Amino acid sequence: MSGNYLIEFSYLLASILFIFGLKGLSHPKTARRGMNMAALGMLVAIVGTLLHHDIISYKWIIIGMIIGSAIGAAMSIWMPMTAMPQRTALSHAFGALAASLVGISEYYQHVVAEHGTVSAFKMTALGFEVLFGSLTVTGSLLAFVKLQELMRGTPVTYKGQNIINVSLFIIAAAIFIYLIYDPTQSTLFYAMVVLSFLFGILLVLPIGSADMPVVMSLMNSYAGLASAATGFAIGNNVLIIAGTLDGFSGFILSILMCKAMNRSVTNVLFGAFGSVSTDTGPGVEGVMREVGADDVAVQLAYARQVVFVPGYGMATAQAQHAVRELAEVLEHKGVNVKYAIHPVAGRMPGHMNVLLAEANVPYSALYELEQINPEMQATDVAVVIGANDVVNPDARDNPKSPIAGMPIIEVDRAHNVVVLKRGKGKGFSGLENPLFFKSNTGMLYGDAKSSLTKLAQAVQQA
Ligand code: NAP
Repeated sequence: MSGNYLIEFSYLLASILFIFGLKGLSHPKTARRGMNMAALGMLVAIVGTLLHHDIISYKWIIIGMIIGSAIGAAMSIWMPMTAMPQRTALSHAFGALAASLVGISEYYQHVVAEHGTVSAFKMTALGFEVLFGSLTVTGSLLAFVKLQELMRGTPVTYKGQNIINVSLFIIAAAIFIYLIYDPTQSTLFYAMVVLSFLFGILLVLPIGSADMPVVMSLMNSYAGLASAATGFAIGNNVLIIAGTLDGFSGFILSILMCKAMNRSVTNVLFGAFGSVSTDTGPGVEGVMREVGADDVAVQLAYARQVVFVPGYGMATAQAQHAVRELAEVLEHKGVNVKYAIHPVAGRMPGHMNVLLAEANVPYSALYELEQINPEMQATDVAVVIGANDVVNPDARDNPKSPIAGMPIIEVDRAHNVVVLKRGKGKGFSGLENPLFFKSNTGMLYGDAKSSLTKLAQAVQQA
């Protein structure tokens, strides 16, 4: 097999592995295998690329691989699971930076260094690559900064913001279109790069940190499209296929997240959610009833069915192991234990699944919202672990609520509800939750991990 055939074959094999890898990621049971297949695909693609006759310096490639592997290994070893959203934002920034740099160097080599030009087709590909790549670099870096709380996570807004942002994008797009007509205008090309970097920052500034997962999956989509454009620009098939897969899967994920919050993509991007107070309809009446661990333990020990509903507080408390331990104690006493997983519980898609999998909770015990809601009326105790918005009945009952229409886990329909949270803190939406004031709800205050540990001990003695 000649060199070129071998390279194309390796790209085909890598693409097949990427597709099967993505398919595997669609279910928790096959996700690990999917990840391994995608990683193998990446290795095959790299080996294939290294056989390319255009490569002029293996030395620099090896240096790059060592530095990249060291950064990747350090991030996966030392960054905690709760910092996964920030970690992903950094990865997108690096990926997009690579795509942008390839685009800039291709343009520089053909147009500036060789005083030549590029075809309209190649300029279109380079333009897409640099436009999407550059805005993804700065947008993802700002997402990292907000999620890491290096700056305040609330939306930064000012008058005329959306008009300024849209105008900037239109100017960058207009330059791009002009460059297709006349690719030799290098000053305009560099102006487009600068505007795209700036647009990435301005696009993410008005978005609150809790909406960052949607932003990041959109950025993931842009980085994928930039890579696909790179593939067209340098004639690399695996980049076209992998970039397109990445681009569209990121876009679909963004839409699914928005659907689970009953919000539109435009509302997430331009709505500055969480920055303004609105008329939220009738206020909440009643009192919060505080309960003690011993009383809750008795309820749990004599229940037939208990449903755990984890949320963001379980992640911050790192309480996933303590939940499993309590579940085991209950199961030992003959209680049927289930876990209800809301699609946007926590701060990133699959957040609860990842944490519970880490604590070896079996997938068969996890129930999606549509599966568990019909069972709520037959549930003796629903234990809400650091969740708030995803169990807020206002989303169902109050059409004036900002989260009206968002699907919720209907814990209020259970015979008893126990809410584990530290105090009277609000959820991501900043709204009061009428669930906490209902007569069948008891509030068990304290850090979720220590409350669960206390409950496990108390249930053993009950
Ligand atoms: P949430 O509404 O943010 O509420 C979390 C609750 O956990 C708070 O009320 C807090 O109350 C409590 N808490 C925090 N630390 C705790 C600890 N150490 N121990 C015990 N409790 C603790 O969380 P959620 O119900 O999971 O809802 C997720 C929200 O994020 C939704 O509004 C969703 O739309 C949004 N969102 C999610 C995603 C995603 O992909 N998952 C994407 C975008 C937006 P205290 O302060 O009183 O303890």
